Amino acid sequence: MAKGADIDTLVVGAGVVGLAIARALAARGHETVVVEAARGIGQGVSSRNSEVVHGGLYYPAGSLRARLCVEGREKLYAFCRSHGVPHAQPGKIIVAANEAQRAQALGIRERARLNGVDLALLSREDMQAMEPEIEGVMGLHSPLTGIVDSHALMLALQGEAERHGAAFAFGAPALAGRARPEGVEMSCGGGAPFTLLARRVVLAAGLSSPRLARMIEGLPQANVPRASFAKGSYFALARPSPFSRLVYPAPEPGGLGVHITLDLAGRARFGPDVEWLDVTDERDIDYTVDPRRAEAFYDAVRRYWPGLRDGELTPDYAGVRPKISARGEPQRDFVIHGPQDHGVAGLVCLYGIESPGLTSSLAIGDYVAGMASR
Ligand SMILES: Cc1cc2nc3c(=O)[nH]c(=O)nc-3n(C[C@H](O)[C@H](O)[C@H](O)COP(=O)(O)OP(=O)(O)OC[C@H]3O[C@@H](n4cnc5c(N)ncnc54)[C@H](O)[C@@H]3O)c2cc1C
Repeated sequence: MAKGADIDTLVVGAGVVGLAIARALAARGHETVVVEAARGIGQGVSSRNSEVVHGGLYYPAGSLRARLCVEGREKLYAFCRSHGVPHAQPGKIIVAANEAQRAQALGIRERARLNGVDLALLSREDMQAMEPEIEGVMGLHSPLTGIVDSHALMLALQGEAERHGAAFAFGAPALAGRARPEGVEMSCGGGAPFTLLARRVVLAAGLSSPRLARMIEGLPQANVPRASFAKGSYFALARPSPFSRLVYPAPEPGGLGVHITLDLAGRARFGPDVEWLDVTDERDIDYTVDPRRAEAFYDAVRRYWPGLRDGELTPDYAGVRPKISARGEPQRDFVIHGPQDHGVAGLVCLYGIESPGLTSSLAIGDYVAGMASR
């Protein structure tokens, strides 16, 4: 199958996106090897997020994010049902806390409509009938939004990929690559370094994708976006959740606003906020949650939940968004570059797969597998 090459396909990164791509390629009969720098699956962005299955409300119509989120959401729910992955569909309310946010909420409703997603308008009374503790002038209801156990999802994707013959090498970071006529040669490090010539290489390295792409000889540097990192911290609620749905404020620049998410045990947490980091190398990121950020969380959350009492928030965890637009720049779409974009035969690079990358993962897998078949 891998004419002139050692293997057919090498996927770099075993986060939810790399796993979904490996599963999709292996299921189509491609001989697939996954190399992962960490000792196991899902140690990167995929284990530091809100675990929300997004409806597809916010993204510009026609963008990859909109398309892959809407398609991915349906695929994800179906996959969870058929593979016993714990998930729930509690729905979500977007609250306009004041008159100024009403127009913003109506804008979200229109954008969602263009993406094929219908949101119900809620009066203040409707909203309070659903979530009595929420304060606001009006709201939107998204019944399609859900939550998923992301680690169980990744285990199921790994299992599926392996069932179709994919092999995994952990503790094996891809270090450098070289474009060759037969494909792309990748050198991997770790305890047992090796070099492989693959007919096709897919870079799904999350925060590291731009840095790693720059290590590929023959890939035009101008084609690789500059990475920026925006940290999002979470705080947990120190008492049982008074909410049965997810509750979001109007979005803020760089993120969706400090929202209330629930885990599958019904516990509430708040976040993520947006903190642009000064680091230029993802290996220098500090994931500690600074307890001093709690003050801004109390302010943000009390705008729509005045019942939050002092001392109820405890630092939880933080994740970092793999941005490819810098602070103040317009948000970029997901970037999935193939040979037609950069000229290197057999190479597919994924950049800027931030939210809703978890929701979109199965659709991204099919999209990349489709590129590979062309
Ligand atoms: C704060 C936050 C909240 C979010 N909330 C949501 C949400 O609620 N819903 C949603 O749909 N999406 C959400 N997302 C987005 C979602 O988490 C990501 O889009 C998704 O997890 C990206 O997966 P990935 O596989 O691309 O990246 P990762 O999970 O980071 O996987 C990349 C992998 O590549 C490996 N790697 C890196 N370099 C190398 C190398 N040189 N060689 C080999 N392996 C390497 C890493 O170790 C890692 O395992 C959120 C993101 C953040 C930051």
